[in-house]
Amino acid sequence: MNSSNSVFLTHQTAAGLDALMRAWGEPAFRARQIYRQLFVSLAASAQAMTDLPAKLRERLAAETKFFELETAKVQVGDNGLTRKALFKLPDGSPVESVLMVYEDRATVCVSTQSGCPMGCVFCATGKLGFLRDLTAGQIVEQVLWACHELKEIRDERPPHETAKLPEHIGNIVFMGMGEPFNNFDNWWESIERLHDPNGLNFGARSFTVSTVGLVPGILRLARMKLPVNLAISLHAPEDNLRNDLMPVNRRYPVADLIAAARNYTEATHRRVSFEYVLLKEKNDLPAQALALAKLLRGDSQRERPLLCHVNLIPWNPVPGTPLGRSDRRRVLAFQQVLLDHKISCTVRVERGIKIGAACGQLAGGGEIPKIEEDEDFS
Ligand code: SF4
Repeated sequence: MNSSNSVFLTHQTAAGLDALMRAWGEPAFRARQIYRQLFVSLAASAQAMTDLPAKLRERLAAETKFFELETAKVQVGDNGLTRKALFKLPDGSPVESVLMVYEDRATVCVSTQSGCPMGCVFCATGKLGFLRDLTAGQIVEQVLWACHELKEIRDERPPHETAKLPEHIGNIVFMGMGEPFNNFDNWWESIERLHDPNGLNFGARSFTVSTVGLVPGILRLARMKLPVNLAISLHAPEDNLRNDLMPVNRRYPVADLIAAARNYTEATHRRVSFEYVLLKEKNDLPAQALALAKLLRGDSQRERPLLCHVNLIPWNPVPGTPLGRSDRRRVLAFQQVLLDHKISCTVRVERGIKIGAACGQLAGGGEIPKIEEDEDFS
């Protein structure tokens, strides 16, 4: 059986398993058992599905595979609590995911594409170019990897440490490789599968999608029933600079993007997050902070302040770029301007910089530059 006609069990929906069991002449409840084993008990092999008859387990082992993504490398940082996986698709294309475990929560950052066509200049993934869209099953698999990995992290620690760690993944952020709205249908199907109450059962507010600013995607998301969180990568308050940093701005300039964000908050009554990567002396000047504050507060004559939050992200080093990381003083000064203008704003505490797992660093391997101490927010 080659990979093009393999049945990958973790890619199946309940209906897909039902059809498979019917085709095999098995009763319908076997499909429900297998679905539960995969997505509730987190079984990783047919042998582990001990509530199935031995013959069915043998057939599953012989005629199906559990996973499609091949784990090429797992890097561990932050005392074992950050793990970055590099997977390979059957054609060798890379896919990366990052699990970050904190005392109060566990977050997994997953990819929706291999590589990315958007070409943001500060991002390692953009330098790879676009390789392929991921299927819904390939996206779900990354989340399952994180669930298994969290279990391993808990199992390998002494009980008093395990007791402090979360039992489940609480947040799934679509901020890995790729632009989710470029692969909207597959991405949304993965959300529906992950949300299934009979399966992994993630709540809608567990999901955060990050977009480079594709206006049609933002407007489409505003119409979807499930209230997932939206983050928009802004990174500049005006077009000239944003054109330089993010080629997408030539298609969807700042004014259109902010109008789409307003449409989204008005249609959904949900807050939008703006991501702002701080690049030394490029977009981190006080005047730029002021321009950003004015942009988000809107024209007070005609508009209300945009319902939003700003995440400031000190840029994470990427090899081969002439860009610099803003130091702590510049970051805090930028933040203060926004706070003075009553814009909700936090500095993102980064995980995984030293293993190339932080925002914008996912590029299928490669050297990670050292960070100076006054630049280290991790
Ligand atoms: S920042 Fe996001 S959208 Fe831009 S190139 Fe990187 S992965 Fe693509």
